[in-house]
Amino acid sequence: MVSVFELFHIGIGPSSSHTVGPMRAAMWFAQELMESDFRDPISRICVTLHGSLGATGKGHGTGKGVILGLSGQSPESVLPSQIISIVADAQENGRLSIMGAITIPFDIKTDIVYKVKSLPQHPNGLTFQAFAASGDMLLERRFFSIGGGAVIRGEQPLVPEVPLSVPFPFNTAAELLTLCKNNRITIAQLMMENEKARYPEAEIHARLDRLWEVMQDCVRRGFEATDMLPGPFKVRRRAKGMRETLLKNMNGETDLLSAMDWLNVYALAVSEENAAGGQVVTAPTNGAAGIIPSVLHYYMHFIKGASIQGVREFLLTAAAIGTLYKTNASISGAEVGCQGEVGVACSMAAGGLCAIIGGTPDQIENAAEIGMEHHLGLTCDPVGGLVQIPCIERNAMASSKAVNAARLALHTVGEHHISLDAVIKTMWETGADMKTKYKETARGGLAVNIKLC
Ligand code: SF4
Repeated sequence: MVSVFELFHIGIGPSSSHTVGPMRAAMWFAQELMESDFRDPISRICVTLHGSLGATGKGHGTGKGVILGLSGQSPESVLPSQIISIVADAQENGRLSIMGAITIPFDIKTDIVYKVKSLPQHPNGLTFQAFAASGDMLLERRFFSIGGGAVIRGEQPLVPEVPLSVPFPFNTAAELLTLCKNNRITIAQLMMENEKARYPEAEIHARLDRLWEVMQDCVRRGFEATDMLPGPFKVRRRAKGMRETLLKNMNGETDLLSAMDWLNVYALAVSEENAAGGQVVTAPTNGAAGIIPSVLHYYMHFIKGASIQGVREFLLTAAAIGTLYKTNASISGAEVGCQGEVGVACSMAAGGLCAIIGGTPDQIENAAEIGMEHHLGLTCDPVGGLVQIPCIERNAMASSKAVNAARLALHTVGEHHISLDAVIKTMWETGADMKTKYKETARGGLAVNIKLC
């Protein structure tokens, strides 16, 4: 079973598969280097990025992730000030401190190689090589960044994984609903019981609360920042200005759709922070990191009786839905397009919200299904390979859709025609049929129809 904390974790922008995953892979490689006993000292490290990482890695901060990981930083704990200084040291001084233990020359132009051709196993591959001064290779390792910041090793796992035994295992939404009915528990309660196989309950609460804290900090920072986003398009941040306008208008006439404006502005704040390389909660990816915080902020500010307990139930329920996508399809834009990122986040948010505004497990399943049904076929075509256009606005649009899906489901009491399992299967098959140029390569769609100034 996928853990709640595999779907939600703290990371840095702009991309979970292209920044966070490579950072984690680089950290593992550096750890192995430090634990190895080589006859000759390490004099050079070369990192090759394959497939989608090679195609959009420059715009998605893959080089930055690799440098931070090799220096021993983890996505969960690196501080914004460390990100700037470590990356600047490599860029300006051409040197890299591996795990703080040895310093080697590092040329980001030649020691990070971008190859558009994919490896056969997965579109997001990385090969790390360490050399001695003689040119002899000391260590070579391959990793795959499989989406949402998760990484698998290219070779056999060093330690065979022991399957975790949980009280309520499920593979499909139908099984999940049956377990809830037979045991008279909610989806959130079921997820909590499964999670308790890993951590004590108090720790689970503390970790969920921490995720919510990081989401709120991210929105706050997004509301304060005025700088332009990195990259050649000079995209202006909009969250601060929009929020100020909304606050001014709050004293005037009542606007029946003001909640939607706030959903937009929360999503923009997080997505702009992500695009700027700031700290976000991967939910379940970074490109789609604005949707769940936006819907949670909406819940806290617009729903009577909102509480931290509601936030926990939302996250647990959303994680159950995310588990279904991760197990039966994909949450990687490089594998299935944006339907696997923004579509999945919308589906998770719809189900999470439905749960805490009174939805039954059946209604939650319906909300999650609606959240994905209207994202089917959504391609990934980030302009300039940056997680900005259309990604930032797409988060705002999906946040409103998630709220709408939850409300639609809440008004539905009878059967619905398309099950969540059917829509997940359809998403996966649609992703398989989608041309590679629409899967995080920036070689199709909007990415090729917008000209650089
Ligand atoms: S278009 Fe969607 S999947 Fe692609 S980078 Fe943007 S948010 Fe991620």
